[in-house]
Amino acid sequence: MQQQALVTDIQKFAVNDGPGFRTSVFLKGCPLKCAWCHNPETISRAPEIYWKRRLCVQCGACMEACPQEAINAPVPPEESREPGSAYQKIIRDRCDGCMKCVDACLYGALCVAGRPMSIDDILDEVEQDRPFYDNSGGGMTVSGGEPTAHPDFTGRLFLAARQRGIHTCLDTNGFCGWPILETIIENVDIVLFDLKHIDPAAHRLLTGVDNALILKNLSRLSRNGTEIWIRIPIVPGFNDDMEIHLRMAQFLAGLPGKISRIDLLPFHNWCQDKYDWLGICWPMQSIEALEPSLLEPAAELYRETGFAATVGGSGFEHTGT
Ligand code: SF4
Ligand code: SF4
Repeated sequence: MQQQALVTDIQKFAVNDGPGFRTSVFLKGCPLKCAWCHNPETISRAPEIYWKRRLCVQCGACMEACPQEAINAPVPPEESREPGSAYQKIIRDRCDGCMKCVDACLYGALCVAGRPMSIDDILDEVEQDRPFYDNSGGGMTVSGGEPTAHPDFTGRLFLAARQRGIHTCLDTNGFCGWPILETIIENVDIVLFDLKHIDPAAHRLLTGVDNALILKNLSRLSRNGTEIWIRIPIVPGFNDDMEIHLRMAQFLAGLPGKISRIDLLPFHNWCQDKYDWLGICWPMQSIEALEPSLLEPAAELYRETGFAATVGGSGFEHTGT
């Protein structure tokens, strides 16, 4: 039995992760590799180190502390902070994750992404926001990463939340065995289901996996009577095309059960810092954030197909039906 999971963040007062004010719990580990991922620190299942170049004074203490010679020698701080600087503090393929460098840094330039937490640890933190849930119809959303990558832990987390009377949402990419999903949703009020692309080849190209299992799970979920909110991340050059939206709308309209709403989530590039902190060169860093109003025609298409649809996915937002 998995006693703890790595949590990268617990976000309070989230308004885009289900109804009302929510506390969103981000678990580490995901089987997909979406090129636009806004939470790159949640992809790996292992703890990772953020190196924040703007805070680093190049004192060299981390290098002295590292037993693996996995830290590059200091350079003048201005050099490492220059826009586009290729300087990296950590030689990641030598690092064994001992975190001695993090302890040695007195400037907060090194920190760990992914803290181990038990179910009680998480729920004790989540429950601090209970008055806001009660007043807004909110609750806890478990996200990631991919929560179903930790089937036992996530299932027990939802069970324990329900026993505490907390409304629950699962935010999933749907890429897991049906028995896992079927078990987890026993204690889930709403499933926020990511639908990234309807075409298998395009899906594989930018996420690393085929979408057949995802579409099948979505169909089973809808037949099951589970409340489903579809979330479609709109990525320039990937799925920002009305023909693709039409195919997605037709697929969703043909599901055996009801879809409560569809949220179109515009691509943004606010996550660039996180890629830099992880030492990853993000191929999408030069792509500009999508102006939400540009997605209105697509939202209208979904509405004309009979769905409630939003741009942005606010849990307080009018869905246009
Ligand atoms: S210990 Fe911290 S401030 Fe000093 S060089 Fe390492 S990362 Fe930079
Ligand atoms: S985590 Fe350990 S091995 Fe990795 S860079 Fe830091 S001190 Fe070196």
